[in-house]
Parts: sequence; structure tokens; C-alpha cells
Amino acid sequence: QIAKDNPDKKVIFLAVGFETTSPTAAATILAAKQQNIKNFYVLTAHKLTPPAIEALLCDEKIKIDGFLLPGHVCVITGEEPFEFIAQKYHLPAVVAGFEPLDILQSIYMIAKQIHAKNFKIENQYKRVVKAVGNKQAQKIMDLVYKKAPANWRGLGVIENSGLDLTDAFSEFDALKMIPVNKEISKEAAGCRCGEVLRGLVKPTDCPLFGKVCTPNHAVGSCMVSVEGTCAAWYKYGSRVFHFE
Ligand code: SF4
Repeated sequence: QIAKDNPDKKVIFLAVGFETTSPTAAATILAAKQQNIKNFYVLTAHKLTPPAIEALLCDEKIKIDGFLLPGHVCVITGEEPFEFIAQKYHLPAVVAGFEPLDILQSIYMIAKQIHAKNFKIENQYKRVVKAVGNKQAQKIMDLVYKKAPANWRGLGVIENSGLDLTDAFSEFDALKMIPVNKEISKEAAGCRCGEVLRGLVKPTDCPLFGKVCTPNHAVGSCMVSVEGTCAAWYKYGSRVFHFE
């Protein structure tokens, strides 16, 4: 609508997020194509969850006992894209909801799988997630996107973990249509977000934590939002220590 209302301007949508947000961006691109809008572009930075999980599993430094699979992602994908966790790596994985009881029950389900040595994908979040996911969203994604290599903080470039626009929709690709020459940004000196994200260090192992890096003055991305590991640790960490 913004592009329609401003035909003399180039409108660029910064499309970020995982399988949760990429179908909505795809539907917008489809609508722009159907309405023949010529001044709308998308800079896609969408990422796919399963390749990042596999990259973690291939990193020998990382010891993971099981996965709480993101319920909002699985609403779209269903369970199938995560089956490799049990089949190939013999680890438990449970599609989890987001309430405290969801998390507790999901951890319990993972513990039971480990105890029984019977590894599979289970769905704790059945009230929202269907085993097959959202077929309509998957269809739109297949139409608009193709898999591409993508760079991940702490993990580097992972093949087939990002989404580019297919040739049929390349007219909306901001990178192709509006080339820019900009240096790629780098992590702030001293920031250990990459290791924090991979579970190799605690936020408190970062020399900047709580000193120059706080929620009000975030140096690294893990401190930016309330969901960030360092921000959560800053808010609740002392209570964690209290019970340790
Ligand atoms: S977000 Fe801040 S505290 Fe966390 S690793 Fe980066 S610089 Fe350190």
C-alpha cells in the first residue's frame, strides 16, 4: 500500500526472520506482482532453521543433548524438516510452545526420550502445530523463494540456509535492482556473541557484559532485544546464580 501511495518513490521492505515471517513477505511479493507494482523491492535476509541446527550438530565443540524446536517455526514447516535430528544424529527433539508449562513439559519429553534411548520428533505444541505444517504457506514460499547460502553470526556461511527470490520474482529483488556498494558490518571488538549463541561461553564470560554492554547500551546483538541471551542473562542471571 505504501508503494502504491507513493508511485514516485522506491519502497524497499527489509525482510528478516525465519520461516515464521518469510511466508508473509512472500505473500506481499505475490500481491505486488499481481497488482503490477513497479516501485516495490524486498531486501531478503530470511533464514531457514534446519540447516543451522545441522551446522550446530556438525560442530564437535558443541555438546547438545536434545532440541526444543521452535513452535512458531514448526507452525509453518511441520515436523518433517527436523526429522534428521533423530534419524541421522540420534538425538531427541520436541516441538515446544512458549508458556512456562510448555517448556517444562517439552524438557520432560526430551528427558524421557533420552532415558528410553528412543529418539524421535515429538510435538508438545499440538494445540497450534500440525505435523504437516501450513501447506498454503509452504506453497507460497516455494513459489517465491529459492534456497541460497547465508551468513550466520557465530556459524559462518551455511549452504541452503537463506532465501533469495526466484527468477520469476527478481524484479522485486532490492539487491539486484538497486545495487549498493557498502562494506559488510563486523562484530564489535571484544563481543563474544558468536560463542554465546553456540553455547560455548556464558554471557558473563564476555569482558564487555554489564560494563560497556547493557540493554540500554547494547554493543552486540545478543543484548539488543529481550529475547537475546545476554539481555536475558542481564535481567535474570543473578537469580540463576542464586539457585545454583
Ligand atoms: S552482546 Fe554484549 S555482553 Fe553479549 S557477547 Fe556481545 S558484547 Fe558481550
